[in-house]
Amino acid sequence: MKENEANTSKKKDNIVLDASVIYNGVLTHNIPGIKYIPDCVLDEVSGMLKGEAIIEEALLYKELIVLTPDNKSLLDIKQKASETGDIQELSECDLSVLAIAKKLQMQYTSVIILSDDYDIQNLANYIGIPCKGIHWKGITSLHEYLWQCPGCGAKSKEKTKNCIECGTEMVRKTQKKKMKRKRG
Ligand SMILES: [Zn+2]
Repeated sequence: MKENEANTSKKKDNIVLDASVIYNGVLTHNIPGIKYIPDCVLDEVSGMLKGEAIIEEALLYKELIVLTPDNKSLLDIKQKASETGDIQELSECDLSVLAIAKKLQMQYTSVIILSDDYDIQNLANYIGIPCKGIHWKGITSLHEYLWQCPGCGAKSKEKTKNCIECGTEMVRKTQKKKMKRKRG
């Protein structure tokens, strides 16, 4: 790595983004720090109507660095994901987000993941990388997760693999909460 690149990275926050926060507009917010994405996230958001221009601009101003996770980091993350049971919910690209974050954490002290994906947040928490969603305004989450049984319709607010009523594999649903607006 080039020296001055490493120096700037040490001082600032290093922020790893997943596709969900890019969809939710993270790059249009003025968040200080150096942002990283794995190459698969770039592929994923490149097809988006507005995403492409935003990404290109961020790359141009060197606000965004695209990384390819190495095999070892990826294997380590897969191992952790099997331990937590998140492996079924996480795509290869989700795992790449975590893999590059873990790698960066070994180099720099301050690394955080921005993701609105519950499973990424869960695994990040497990492996000790701070993770935040952006789909809130600092007060309360706009999304609530819910697991529902496709067999009998039983619901659970906790992550549940199999239905406690009938044993069918639960499916995750995202509930959008109504935003409370302040009047005044
Ligand atoms: Zn059931």
